[in-house]
Amino acid sequence: MSAIVAIVGRPNVGKSTFFNRLIQRREAIVDAVSGVTRDRHYGKSDWNGKEFSIIDTGGYVVGSDDVFEKEIDKQVELAIAEADAIIFMVDVETGVTGMDEDVAKLLRKVKKPVFLAINKVDNAKRAEDAVEFYSLGLGEYYTLSSINGGGTGDLLDALVKELPDVVEEKSELPRFAVVGRPNAGKSSFINALIGEERYIVTDIAGTTRDSIDTKYNRFGFEFNLVDTAGIRRKSKVKEDLEFYSVMRSVRAIEHCDVCILLLDATRGFDGQVENIFWLAQRNHKGIVILVNKWDLVEDKETNTIKHYTQKIKKAIEPFTDVPILFISVLTKQRIFKAIETAVEVYNNRNKKIITRKFNETMLPIIENYPPPAYKGKFVKIKFCTQLPTPYPQFAFFCNLPQYVREPYKRYLENKIREEYDFSGVPITVFMRKK
Ligand code: GDP
Ligand code: GDP
Repeated sequence: MSAIVAIVGRPNVGKSTFFNRLIQRREAIVDAVSGVTRDRHYGKSDWNGKEFSIIDTGGYVVGSDDVFEKEIDKQVELAIAEADAIIFMVDVETGVTGMDEDVAKLLRKVKKPVFLAINKVDNAKRAEDAVEFYSLGLGEYYTLSSINGGGTGDLLDALVKELPDVVEEKSELPRFAVVGRPNAGKSSFINALIGEERYIVTDIAGTTRDSIDTKYNRFGFEFNLVDTAGIRRKSKVKEDLEFYSVMRSVRAIEHCDVCILLLDATRGFDGQVENIFWLAQRNHKGIVILVNKWDLVEDKETNTIKHYTQKIKKAIEPFTDVPILFISVLTKQRIFKAIETAVEVYNNRNKKIITRKFNETMLPIIENYPPPAYKGKFVKIKFCTQLPTPYPQFAFFCNLPQYVREPYKRYLENKIREEYDFSGVPITVFMRKK
């Protein structure tokens, strides 16, 4: 689990440019593997060895500037509520605007670290212009050029110094987070499980905004259910809900062991669901996909489930070893099966394979199909082991680790998955120098 940093500011100041710069390296690798480019407003980054999650709040606002003007206060409020630190970005080209002043007013009251980042300071002349932003009353500022990277180092130095040290929480009970888009059926799912109407969500002002933990006991297995649904606010604005649900999902996912990802069968596995899926995957969390409201799907025939499954698998390539269940909270169809599956995924994520057995299994497989020679050199893998990490990671020791390419690592991952049950669990394969 890592600290969460939110970037706020009006449109066109350069938030996404800065965001992309921060997550670039790591995300580029992920995309090269899957061969898909995704629209992302959430990513992981690290600086001076400190990892943090970063959210580009602007990515959740659609529409024109005046829509934004109405929305910005909410965005900032949410960022204040959910993030550990806030980067407030402004644009030196346009200078201080009314919207900047509105945001600054909100941020002046905040106890969390706030960093005023003056962007588009591409040259020394513009650095002089930046002084006018003192008028925002936020004190010191950082000048940067997101386009060429100038100044970003100083900002990040200051940022990570202020971030709380967060370590992988060791909660006594396994934590399952129920996540998904608004209206997927998350509250209904939890209600059905616990058999009471404690989580009914209404549009009354003051509806609880915190995610709620429920201790739950089923199949002799005790765990915490983390609900992200009880967070609906009185706001009627759809974008706001979406943004808010993503913010809450980020929090819940960071804190859980297994994500129960609910989607509405009639809406499908769309971009937002996919975002939540990759969020969980990048955080090395266990995942179960529940296609809910299956009762609403008409004209079901023998292959309907198969085709639906294939579609989802296509979207989540190459991490397709994930349980997908078709449920109906309304008719209580397979909802307990869903929990049973989440427990299995939890156990898979905690699985530890004895090193001797692992070598006995993997070395003959490798001998049978060794890494292809690279630049005329032969790679010899001599030994492998599961690392003592909170989630499954495997190291393969060899003479020339840098010559083992992605496809071969994926081959090893697939073989591990064939030999052992890691269903629903992201696994990582490393090559190390022996
Ligand atoms: P957002 O709406 O705040 O996410 O802003 P974008 O990242 O989409 O950037 C808006 C525009 O500003 C784009 O045309 C960027 O190329 C440009 N831009 C971003 N950062 C810089 C910078 O450091 N210098 C200059 N000159 N332009 C920039
Ligand atoms: P949340 O926003 O994800 O918590 O979603 P809710 O639990 O509030 O559910 C949204 C709507 O979908 C409500 O009207 C539910 O009654 C309905 N719903 C939930 N699960 C099912 C289901 O399996 N079948 C049908 N037909 N409706 C459902």
